[in-house]
Amino acid sequence: MLHPEPHPAEVVLLTRRFRLRDSASIDTYLATEGYQAFRKALAMTPEEIIEEVKKSNLRGRGGAGFPTGLKWSFVPRNSPKPKYIVANADEGEPGTCKDRLLMQYDPHSLLEGMLIAARAVGARAGYIYIRGEYRYLIEILDRAIEEARRRGFLGRNILGSGMDFDVYTHSGAGSYECGEETALLESLEGKRGVPRLRPPFPATSGAFGCPTVLNNVETFCAVPPIILKGGLAFAELGTPKNGGTRLFAISGHVNRPGVYELPMGFNLLRMIHEVAGGVRGGRKLKAVIPGGSSCPVLRAEECDVAMDFDSLARAGSMLGSGGVIVMDETTCMVKAAARILRFYAHESCGFCTPCREGTRWLATVLTRLERGEGQPGDIEVVRNVARNMLGRTFCPLGDAAAMPASSFVEKFREEFEAHLEGKPCPAEEVAIHA
Ligand code: SF4
Repeated sequence: MLHPEPHPAEVVLLTRRFRLRDSASIDTYLATEGYQAFRKALAMTPEEIIEEVKKSNLRGRGGAGFPTGLKWSFVPRNSPKPKYIVANADEGEPGTCKDRLLMQYDPHSLLEGMLIAARAVGARAGYIYIRGEYRYLIEILDRAIEEARRRGFLGRNILGSGMDFDVYTHSGAGSYECGEETALLESLEGKRGVPRLRPPFPATSGAFGCPTVLNNVETFCAVPPIILKGGLAFAELGTPKNGGTRLFAISGHVNRPGVYELPMGFNLLRMIHEVAGGVRGGRKLKAVIPGGSSCPVLRAEECDVAMDFDSLARAGSMLGSGGVIVMDETTCMVKAAARILRFYAHESCGFCTPCREGTRWLATVLTRLERGEGQPGDIEVVRNVARNMLGRTFCPLGDAAAMPASSFVEKFREEFEAHLEGKPCPAEEVAIHA
């Protein structure tokens, strides 16, 4: 997924160590400004650190896009309870594979980002909650943590500053739902990974009922350059209210799939045709899911859009986790929708009825449509079930299933009707003649 050389359009900030020899080692990190931002943060007040992060317009890279500095400011510093820092490394959104590269090639940047967050809110312990399938990364992270401890960047009285902070890895068991922050916290505490009722939010009542900063891996990795170069410099790389760069994982029908670091607001069509080498086989672009499989799909003619949170919201979709899934003209949209919904039906934790029943219904009906075994009214069933799930489930997984289902039907209805009426799938017709 990582190309030998960055594309000329890339802005290599978070990925700048990826291609260095022994990039994951602390020696490489220290030789390339590593832990300099933390040293600088030690001389700043917590308020100054949070203010710098606010200035950067950094927004959470896990999917929700909440302003990071604002989130940190919600942690009550005077609370008598211990505070925690939790990195969400449960990267499970289909189409997304950027956090794993950050942890594989630059684990110390994650640790440094967590250290700076700990300094900002007064935390003494941090956890990296990592999905079970990333077992090989746990070894890399544990090695980095041990290196940081030996060099005095973790543990007691860090660098003689009086600050205590340590980090521990914690493996999940392969549940998509545990990427939802409160389900993650339940799982971290050793319980079944189902979400909690919010409020209270983790900033006031998170891990073990204590104030917690919980951010995505990429979000933490963006913090050291923000502190080192200043929040404004980071903000200026992106668009208003969408600071910095973003690691986009481009997959599907492109000639050069991979993870690319591009400025926030980079044009989606340029990303596909210029950076990712265009659509495979010179075929026509049909559709794109711009931010992981839970985001509404865009038709080709809707893809002339800036890739930032606000522009994609205006275009009726989401930036999500930055997983760009490209589909060419030979893609059967009924098949694609059915595949996505089978995933969400499998991953629904079953805690609330609209999601548990709704995802099953959507997967079942879409699968029979895909097979040409649809029943009259099935298309309306998909639309109605999705509509009744939206905003009515206990956690965002219900929306994550409903949004692709309804957008696929709405935007490619003619294909669903062809499947229902027993006509040849329009996409397969194209594939035969391509
Ligand atoms: Fe579980 Fe789905 Fe309900 Fe979330 S929306 S609590 S995943 S059943």
